[in-house]
Amino acid sequence: MMERDKKRPHILLIKEMPKIHCARGPRSCKKCQEMKEEGESYCLLKIFLDGGEIARPMTEIIVDNESILSEYDVLDRFKDITEAKNYAEENDVEIVYS
Ligand SMILES: [Zn+2]
Repeated sequence: MMERDKKRPHILLIKEMPKIHCARGPRSCKKCQEMKEEGESYCLLKIFLDGGEIARPMTEIIVDNESILSEYDVLDRFKDITEAKNYAEENDVEIVYS
């Protein structure tokens, strides 16, 4: 993670995400396509709330009933929903079900 990212306003969320290799995405990157085919898994996400550069992967989240498109970092990837739920309870992190 970049140094400047540590100070940016953010929230933590758990959300089911496809595996992403880079910002080019599955349409233009073969490695991304391969990882996408492995399917989605629950991830601990750090969602940045101050907008950002479109060069980084973005995800849509609901904050105060408003849908926003945000930059995020994947901090962790859970093996299954049980592991995700345990983490959510222990750390008071919300799980977003799609
Ligand atoms: Zn890629």
